[in-house]
Amino acid sequence: MSVRVRFAPSPTGPLHIGGARSALFNWLFARHHGGQFIVRIEDTDMERSSRQSEENILAALRWLGIDWDEGIDVGGNNGPYRQTERLDIYRRVAQQLLEQGLAYHCYCSEEKLAADRERLMAKGELPRYLGHCRHLSPEEKAKFEAEGRKPTLRFKVPENRVIAVDDRVRGRVEFESDGIGDFIIMKSDRIPTYNFAVVVDDHDMKISHVIRAEEHLSNTPRQIMLYDALKWEKPTFAHVSLILGKDRSKMSKRHGATSIEQYKSSGYLPEAMVNFLALMGWSPGGEEEVFAVSELQKLFSLDKVSKSPAVFDLDKLNWLNGYYIRNSDLDYITDLAVPYLQRAGYIAEDAGPEDVALARQMVKATRKYLTNLSEVTEHVGIFYDDAVKPVDDKARQVLAQEEVPQVMRLMKQKVYAAGQLEEDVVKGMLKELTKELGFGGKKVYMPLRVALTGKLQGPELYEIIPILGVRRTVARLDAVLDGSILN
Ligand code: GLU
Repeated sequence: MSVRVRFAPSPTGPLHIGGARSALFNWLFARHHGGQFIVRIEDTDMERSSRQSEENILAALRWLGIDWDEGIDVGGNNGPYRQTERLDIYRRVAQQLLEQGLAYHCYCSEEKLAADRERLMAKGELPRYLGHCRHLSPEEKAKFEAEGRKPTLRFKVPENRVIAVDDRVRGRVEFESDGIGDFIIMKSDRIPTYNFAVVVDDHDMKISHVIRAEEHLSNTPRQIMLYDALKWEKPTFAHVSLILGKDRSKMSKRHGATSIEQYKSSGYLPEAMVNFLALMGWSPGGEEEVFAVSELQKLFSLDKVSKSPAVFDLDKLNWLNGYYIRNSDLDYITDLAVPYLQRAGYIAEDAGPEDVALARQMVKATRKYLTNLSEVTEHVGIFYDDAVKPVDDKARQVLAQEEVPQVMRLMKQKVYAAGQLEEDVVKGMLKELTKELGFGGKKVYMPLRVALTGKLQGPELYEIIPILGVRRTVARLDAVLDGSILN
């Protein structure tokens, strides 16, 4: 059987972590099986849906590197892929159910429905529709029509049935049809409800597997009853666990940003995000946590999707992001870091090749300290601020050692002699310096580090010095020699 799966967002806001994970699982599943991945827009809630959200969601998917084979923008043979463009299709199927006696018009007013709900709840029963309009006489119907009431269309839920969902993640889950009242499939404005539209679409689009969030599990018996009534083949269902915060409460803003956009703008890499999302509720087994997307495609299977809640662990995301920042291609990381350096004023807005080359050197020197790219601006100050001062007493003490002037003088000579300061040149220079001075590396490197940056820790000297260049390196060494660094 060919695998066809879909991600079906409602465009009522940005793409959230949970939605992104659903999209990713579907996409990985499709790519693993050489199947198709479809993006369908579920925009029947016209008040809350917007084209802007739709575009944001698609942009976030693209940023993650998720592509689709069919959808509103790429087309396909099973469209349209936006529900508001499919209204005729739903109306036709609804009419069929009505004619077959599997659905009926309901004229109940909101007030009546609310009163029924309250009464049931007071008795401790599940609120549900009690079937009032199931058996209206033609006269009653005519009367309501004459009053101008606009009916909803309700599905006739079969009585006394056990509806089983054979879920690929959760196993067999059973529901009693009697706990489910006749539910609305078309609203009075002739717009389909979610449960109806989703069935029509998944059938029409030949969806083989419905992989979605656990919160939809309770909708599934309704959908299964519709498939059965329409004599349509059901897809396989797989409901993926909720995402909880580290404290085991439902994931919310308290646990970190919830939208993909926010992670993007704070400097998370799509590779890290995808790796992180994939591990929320899925694991190939073993200790390994770093997976390139190609490996994820190879390894992903529904059998390894966990039944227990997934935990959103921001520390893990930060760790993964740092990992990808350190280990990805330097030019790629530089391109992503440049906008942050520009915004902070370190690099010109119209950055030319020289600016980019400088950014590259700075990123190379500092990327091991970053958990996200926006932090790069906190680490590059040492390359710009020529008035270096020791940051604390410890740093000051390093400069008070008696060998310090000797170190500064010899280093100055070597810098002048070298003329140009490439990394390898500087590495060689430092080695020579230590050898010639003969009192051990620590007494050489620490004073140089404080002289050049004011700090005891930071990027490698052989990365700092090429960025500073001859003139600024010498000026900083001089500031130690003439004591002005302490003023
Ligand atoms: N539009 C629904 C949602 O965003 C889709 C649910 C489904 O995948 O069936 O939750």
